[in-house]
Amino acid sequence: MRFFDPHIHLTSRTTDDIAAMAAAGLRAVIEPAFWMGQPRTNVGTFVDYFSSLVGWERFRAAQMGVTHYCAIGLNSKEANNEGLAREVLELIPRFALKEGVVAVGEIGYDEISEAEEHAFAWQLDFARRHDMVVMVHTPHRDKKRGVERSLELAGDIGVPVEKLVIDHNTEETVEITLQSGAWAGFTIYPHTKMSSERMVEIVRRYGPERLIVDSSADWGISDPLAVPRTARLMLERGIPAEHVEQVTWQNGLDAYAQSGQIDVAALLETPVVDQSTFFGDNSVLRGQTPRVDEAARA
Ligand SMILES: [Zn+2]
Repeated sequence: MRFFDPHIHLTSRTTDDIAAMAAAGLRAVIEPAFWMGQPRTNVGTFVDYFSSLVGWERFRAAQMGVTHYCAIGLNSKEANNEGLAREVLELIPRFALKEGVVAVGEIGYDEISEAEEHAFAWQLDFARRHDMVVMVHTPHRDKKRGVERSLELAGDIGVPVEKLVIDHNTEETVEITLQSGAWAGFTIYPHTKMSSERMVEIVRRYGPERLIVDSSADWGISDPLAVPRTARLMLERGIPAEHVEQVTWQNGLDAYAQSGQIDVAALLETPVVDQSTFFGDNSVLRGQTPRVDEAARA
């Protein structure tokens, strides 16, 4: 089976993780811009971070045979630093319209503060003006209110519901999200929150329409193989293979291919790796013999 992980922070993962993902059948990923664990103190660090999402990180994933897309946005947590947030929002048009950027994201609410709402609304309006998909982060506390307010705000601003991916859903919010007509993302966390087991039951209960499984793997305790592991458990527990494929491959592609940035036919081909190439002067290899697939030699 092949898989798509439409929410993973590869910046925080090693190249070995990416190799393991490729071996497990992950063909493509989306890396949304987010918070780094420690607050950033000046706008220049955002310039470099966004540049790495459209540059080095895409190269690094491709070196392991994984196609990398990204989403650009100011995360909700750092939206609370209002001075800095103003400067970061000015950067969004410069990066969000680049090649390989499939959405504005991840944006939304964290503490559900006024400053967060201001940055969220600004970015929703930017997405609407440029006909972009939006990846919405929902708060881990007060999730239901966060989902409801996100849907309401996006509706007020006029973002079409089919361009909206509400992520980090749980049993508490799945019906609200599905009833709105938006895509419903589920982040599978090891040990806590949404588990693979709970995801199996959600797919069983609600069917595969508009449900999307992702890992959100980052610098915290998380699992870059959450999508293939959850798929395997679904099959073991009797979920039909076509439903598993829909929630771990097709729905994510359908949602984000609306950006016009995803060559879906190319993703169906066997990935071609050429590790003899460099990014600037840099390689991911440390003296190993580069893998150069036959098709790359042609
Ligand atoms: Zn995330």
